[in-house]
Amino acid sequence: MTVALGMPTLPAPVLSERRKTRQLQVGPVGVGSEHPISVQSMTTTLTSDVNATLQQIAELTAAGCDIVRVACPSADDAEALPAIARKSQIPVIADIHFQPKYVFAAIEAGCAAVRVNPGNIRKFDDQVKEIAKAAKDHGTPIRIGVNAGSLDKRIMDKYGKATPEALAESALWEASLFAEHDFYDVKISVKHNDPVVMVRAYEILAEQCDYPLHLGVTEAGPAFQGTIKSAVAFGALLRQGIGDTIRVSLSAPPVEEVKVGIQILQSLNLKERKLEIVSCPSCGRAQVDVYTLAEQVTAGLEGMEVPLRVAVMGCVVNGPGEAREADLGVASGNGKGQIFVKGEVIKTVPEHAIVETLIEEAMRIAEESGQTIGEGEPTVTVG
Ligand code: SF4
Repeated sequence: MTVALGMPTLPAPVLSERRKTRQLQVGPVGVGSEHPISVQSMTTTLTSDVNATLQQIAELTAAGCDIVRVACPSADDAEALPAIARKSQIPVIADIHFQPKYVFAAIEAGCAAVRVNPGNIRKFDDQVKEIAKAAKDHGTPIRIGVNAGSLDKRIMDKYGKATPEALAESALWEASLFAEHDFYDVKISVKHNDPVVMVRAYEILAEQCDYPLHLGVTEAGPAFQGTIKSAVAFGALLRQGIGDTIRVSLSAPPVEEVKVGIQILQSLNLKERKLEIVSCPSCGRAQVDVYTLAEQVTAGLEGMEVPLRVAVMGCVVNGPGEAREADLGVASGNGKGQIFVKGEVIKTVPEHAIVETLIEEAMRIAEESGQTIGEGEPTVTVG
């Protein structure tokens, strides 16, 4: 098989320009068309357990998460917010359902933003004036987070179910209430578990407002299904320049959500690519176990902060030729691996030394580039 290799030249080409939006700040992270698309996740710890929550936030931060959201269903959780907001290395958004008093508590706590679900906060519309005032006083943006599973009763009565039009109308209605009080520091999400409904809902929003949009397929499912649903839906929207911050929802540890979100953005050149493994699918010509080799190389180079494309090819027939533009690669065969750098074969090593040699060469390239290697320094894992 033939694949095009090599990191895209900078600035990397993108499929479309970003849709122009208002800009807002979630702490130090800008959200809107003038800023890179940020990756979010949400903690799964009890927010009231400050240490456990901060530990998970630290793991998310290390994984590349830009913004983290924490649930706030009880008074104990609300009490924990100031410490979490103060100690977290990335901006913290409080996620508020049902209890309007926690919206104010989160704003007072110094959270970088507050997510409200207007569909299930009691008498939300009556409190918009006070919420807008408190948020404005503290410079706190609000995410209007409409969710198919908890759509406003009035909208449900009108549409009968969570259609794209219903989701968009609910969000735009709430945004209009904030606008009545001269509050525009708003971003919007309209999540549904069906990518088709979700994509259409965001398209309607994009046509009708210029608020930044937070993309998400809600309840997307376990890692395999959720990854595909999110990638397909986000891809369809990002292709149109729609989307300013993303959250992949998986029934999996939140670090996995961050990895998937980053990979989606990197795949579309919307985020700088770091380590990228280009491995062949193997075929009847392969003389090594390509799957295992690719996994070992991936694990061995985990933590590389330097943009690096590594080709792992199963045979010498296509390997060097296909890898001409890769930074580093191996073409295997007959119990040996041809190691190449920028398409030139620099040495041939026994199969058991392939991973170790690739890591050495990767470190050398990283040093020569003058860039640092990430905290998770590469380790050699040879099976
Ligand atoms: S084994 Fe060789 S020919 Fe087969 S897919 Fe891999 S690189 Fe291509």
